[in-house]
Amino acid sequence: MSASEPIYLDYAASTPVDPAVADAMTSCLRGECGRGNPSSQHVYGRRAAQRIEAARAEVATLIGARPEEIVFTSGATESDNLAILGAARAGAQRGRHVVSSRIEHKAGLDPCKRLEKEGFAVTLVSPARTGRIDPAAVAAALRADTAVVSIMWVNNETGVIQDVAAIGALCRERGVLFHTDAAQAVGKFPIEVRELPIDLMSFTAHKLYGPKGIGALYVRAGVRPRVLPLTFGGGQESGMRPGTLPTHQIVGFGAACDRARRALSSEGEAERIMSLRERLWGELSAVDGTLLNGEGAPRVPGILNVSFDGVEGESLLHGLSELALSTGSACNSASAEPSYVLRALGRDRELAQSSLRLSFGRFTHQAEIDAAAAAIRREVQRLRALSPASDTCSGRNGRGAEVLGEAGGPGREVWIRFRLQVEGGIVHGASFRVYGCPHTLAVAAWLAEQVRGRTRGTLIPGTPTEWARVLDVPVEKLGRLLTLEDALRECQRQWPTV
Ligand SMILES: *Cc1c(COP(=O)(O)O)cnc(C)c1O
Repeated sequence: MSASEPIYLDYAASTPVDPAVADAMTSCLRGECGRGNPSSQHVYGRRAAQRIEAARAEVATLIGARPEEIVFTSGATESDNLAILGAARAGAQRGRHVVSSRIEHKAGLDPCKRLEKEGFAVTLVSPARTGRIDPAAVAAALRADTAVVSIMWVNNETGVIQDVAAIGALCRERGVLFHTDAAQAVGKFPIEVRELPIDLMSFTAHKLYGPKGIGALYVRAGVRPRVLPLTFGGGQESGMRPGTLPTHQIVGFGAACDRARRALSSEGEAERIMSLRERLWGELSAVDGTLLNGEGAPRVPGILNVSFDGVEGESLLHGLSELALSTGSACNSASAEPSYVLRALGRDRELAQSSLRLSFGRFTHQAEIDAAAAAIRREVQRLRALSPASDTCSGRNGRGAEVLGEAGGPGREVWIRFRLQVEGGIVHGASFRVYGCPHTLAVAAWLAEQVRGRTRGTLIPGTPTEWARVLDVPVEKLGRLLTLEDALRECQRQWPTV
């Protein structure tokens, strides 16, 4: 942990590559699998093919599958597409209805949208407030013409684990194919996929300490004829996913799976990560107005998603530059919605926007968790103290009159209150309380400086467009500066006329 390098708390976006995996890939590239196309019949090709089959066995072993049930892809996005589009199109004769959920990764939602354009009907099931999808809700969504159901195993924002055994069972009862996106599940807890009613399962190497750009779709024996390929070519992977197999990527994926199996079975990795999460939550929950997203549902150890009541998400993230993490807020965009996953859990826009996803794992130390907790507590307290909601002092201090100007309000993007000390017709001092994005905070502070020495008539120093230019505010934030201007106008209205 060095002073300049942020602490990496974004394992749910991508895990660091395990050094053992990097070594396996490097020696593969430098050695026997650096030469030869695994489809070739000569010795170089055969050696590469052997390395691939050894890795396929490691990947299959981690999830309790047979090697021939593994189809290599470029990652979970492609696997989700292959499973959902492939199964729906293959089953179109039988029916043109698909069931999924509102909290899927975009890699699952977007193929469903695509299917709607192709004339399929899609039903998206809503989760309960805990983030759990009730199997009964999936059962209720099934129709006679349902071709495939796709429900993720573990949510990438909240870490909530779904009951795929129950959901899969009710699909199997009706003869409907069941796919699950297990990108956040594989390697996080033991999985025996053949013992579960799962037909198709997506996962990816870079969420389990392997390289980016390689993943797999588990296709249960016998299910292949019910899935159409997306691409056509040289017949690799039995035609399900043609293209030259990337030997070194697959070797890295295999090494990562082998490592994950050992970490889960003998090294107590999950327990250690769980205790880090408990420690972090212990620290954060001590701050008032901290809410755990996914509370009450079973969750994977390495993800903690929290919302901070009354704290603006973008400013929170801005103040935490020593941490590398993700947020539920929609940064730098006036139009983008805060996390649709947290909204689906019933969080309002503000709480969804004020959330942090902290994700960690194999290489996270306790000292990093402690430093992160301290930084977050500091920032939350700083922003709370700055907010108008905490402004209890209404009395005047000093001589002269106090002029208040407020605009925006609770639940809005901006809430600003200027407090001017006016004496002899000019502003002697100005303070402010503000809730808003980092740009809003910066402009409010700048305005509080600028208004000093001004009279009622000259109080407002220029226009919001000019302020935006001076302080480099992006155009989509201009609306927020108008609220600051409103507050200064309100000061003018309140200005005592004696
Ligand atoms: C990361 C992730 C994906 C996308 O995986 P890629 O390998 O990056 O394409 C899909 N689904 C979930 C749940 C994920 O967490």
